[in-house]
Amino acid sequence: MTTPANADLHCHSIFSDGTLTPEDVAARASGHGVDLWALTDHDGVGGQQRALQAAREHGMHYLTGVEVSITYADTTVHIVGLGFDPANPDLVAGLDATRGGRDGRAREVANRLERLTGITGVYAGALRYAGNKEAIARPHFARFLVDQGVCKSTQDAFIKYLGDGQPAFVPHRWARLSDAVTWITAAGGIAIVAHPARYRFNATQEAALFTDFKDCGGQGVEVVTGSHTAAEAVRYAATARRYGLLASRGSDFHGPGESRTDVGTLPPLPADLRPVWTALAERIQ
Ligand code: AMP
Ligand code: MN
Ligand code: MN
Ligand code: MN
Repeated sequence: MTTPANADLHCHSIFSDGTLTPEDVAARASGHGVDLWALTDHDGVGGQQRALQAAREHGMHYLTGVEVSITYADTTVHIVGLGFDPANPDLVAGLDATRGGRDGRAREVANRLERLTGITGVYAGALRYAGNKEAIARPHFARFLVDQGVCKSTQDAFIKYLGDGQPAFVPHRWARLSDAVTWITAAGGIAIVAHPARYRFNATQEAALFTDFKDCGGQGVEVVTGSHTAAEAVRYAATARRYGLLASRGSDFHGPGESRTDVGTLPPLPADLRPVWTALAERIQ
């Protein structure tokens, strides 16, 4: 394809913690002028075929996508993969194992919420919000707490209970950085550090992350994302230059009313950066 006018390479559907089907995210993306799209559900590729089909129906170009949860320096970090073969057995097995940790963690989150709020049936309640039970995640609990009247908003649920370090937060060991990067790259894709401003790393820890990421084959960083302010985009544009990384752009859209940024509504990448899609020309469908 020629240079995309509006690429959105990070969004979620009911295959993880989004609230819309892949078809509805595709329709919304297309309606907002997206011409190169990737659905990047957490730790799974179950929605990829439907997303590709829907992209075709709307005349959008498509890159396969995923967002892998990893643990680096005792912190949860997200690695986006783009343009991989979604049938690659090592990738599929790695993602299955990563999702496999979610159920036990969710039961513990539910126990804590029952103790903290006095309500019962929290595990079953949150599961009702999960389109894909294996992908149960904190936003499903947040939506349950809002609908029960315990919290005013999902944001409020994270601030009071579910956010990192809050009383219903259950620490979890996700995949290793090198494993996630290898699953993606060995399947023909490009690995990208998602929303780097979201991690609470100091400068030394952040430098270690990018150095280790490059050493194991990582090639990209999200510069323009719904999770970054304009100042943070400027900062991570500098990171892309310093480490020679490809730049990515994605809203991190989870659903109407849930995300700071709607799908397809981001500012452009800084003109001097090399966009990640330029390295994925043969993988664009
Ligand atoms: P989990 O994978 O279960 O740890 O849930 C992580 C997901 O929760 C992220 O992908 C976001 O969708 C959402 N999330 C994380 N932190 C917040 C926050 N502070 N406010 C709202 N949503 C959040
Ligand atoms: Mn999410
Ligand atoms: Mn993320
Ligand atoms: Mn995301």
